Amino acid sequence: MPLRLYNTLTQTKEPFQTVQPGKVGMYVCGPTVYSNSHVGHMVGPVIFDTIKRYLVYLGYDVTWVVNITDVDDKLIVQAAKDGVTVKDLADRVTEDYLHCLHQLGVDGIDHMPKATEHIAEIVEMTQALINKGFAYASSGDVYFDVTKAPEYGKLSHRDPEALQAGARIEPTAIKRNPGDFALWKGSKPGEPAWESPWGPGRPGWHIECSAMSMKLLGEHFDIHGGGLDLVFPHHENEVVQSESYSGKTFATYWLHNGLLTKAGKKISKSDPGTVILMSDLLRDHDPDTLRCLFLSSHYRRPIDYGPGRLDEISRGLEAFRSLFDRFERLTGTSFFTLEAPTRKSDEEKVASSIPEIDEHRTRFLEAMDDDFNTGGAFGELYELVRALNRFADTHKLETAADPEALAGYRAGVVVLKELTQILGLFLHPRVQPEATGDSLTPKLLELLVNLRARVRKEKNFALADDIRNQLAEMGVTLEDRPDGTGWKIS
Ligand SMILES: [Zn+2]
Repeated sequence: MPLRLYNTLTQTKEPFQTVQPGKVGMYVCGPTVYSNSHVGHMVGPVIFDTIKRYLVYLGYDVTWVVNITDVDDKLIVQAAKDGVTVKDLADRVTEDYLHCLHQLGVDGIDHMPKATEHIAEIVEMTQALINKGFAYASSGDVYFDVTKAPEYGKLSHRDPEALQAGARIEPTAIKRNPGDFALWKGSKPGEPAWESPWGPGRPGWHIECSAMSMKLLGEHFDIHGGGLDLVFPHHENEVVQSESYSGKTFATYWLHNGLLTKAGKKISKSDPGTVILMSDLLRDHDPDTLRCLFLSSHYRRPIDYGPGRLDEISRGLEAFRSLFDRFERLTGTSFFTLEAPTRKSDEEKVASSIPEIDEHRTRFLEAMDDDFNTGGAFGELYELVRALNRFADTHKLETAADPEALAGYRAGVVVLKELTQILGLFLHPRVQPEATGDSLTPKLLELLVNLRARVRKEKNFALADDIRNQLAEMGVTLEDRPDGTGWKIS
């Protein structure tokens, strides 16, 4: 079954068809850089990074754009509070955002345009919307007149009249209709401002995304993504102003990721009890664990981040780590340096000789083809690990050196690597923080390592693995080397 994706615009799963053959343009709304990234800010980037990885795997040439909103009311207020310039605040917060992306393996973004570097395009688009009769200038601001676009409401599936009545913006003498939204805002003294035909001011938030996405991806591109909370008004306004401007379809597919919740509550700056800084989480948790948190369910569903959830995921990932260790012991090759296909078209190279492995691979790809069901795909990876362990046990790979069985096992692990790469998992060995300083721990660990060596000599591999796994749960990794066993504490 070819790739199908759920489109918020049509509320159905549709087959994937690109504007240009073989090419995908993807735009995802990025952060307003007024405070350091909290855990919720990373959900979208990890999900769309995985989507890009999968599209690349399918053979598409993908251009991914994530914008940086570096001028906005929130930035102006926060910079004044901190006694710094808007630019300094924006630069500092952008740096934190980039650091978090890097830590989580989000490395596929091709362009990160800043709003302040696209003022000319925004002014041009605003003027064109006025010329076409969709927008009007008023007291130094420019507004989009929502009554001029009968399709307004088509993305969020809201009735335009209900939108008018429900608009949260108070009607003012400046606006013709309460639901009209700002394309350009006149500035007050002391605020960041750019010259425009309507006087000094700054762009509205929605128009930035239209101007930057169309500049980098063309007037009609393939995928527009963002969090579910952006469907209205942000994306609704983006569609209406872009299509009124170009007369063309703006984005073919609208993909919205579910939001992170903590014990059922949305994570939000206005509820400080729910805010967890990403930099704090990255200090205490392995990036793979955090990536798994975001990918373990379907991307459109909310992700609940509750106490213990990360520990639970981390324990689950030990199954993979034990397999990597076993693989290295048996083959002398590290999983992390193992070469595996990065394109589906290379699949003839990966046919493993173990039918069960091939079945899980097929099901993994079917899950991804079904609207990027990463949760389902991830489940297949666990099954794959179990199948590989069963294979190694049945063929007694530790004791009986059957080269054919070993080659089969190796090919199966190559399949595992091929698929984990798509989810952006296990790209690097786990980072090992400093070992503890007490003197008893090393002695106790030596004792356990020696005991384990003895039970292995007695061929009690189950007990030896049990010792390894239980230590791993406590954060101690054992490494078997030709000269003995070493250990590391995380
Ligand atoms: Zn946007």
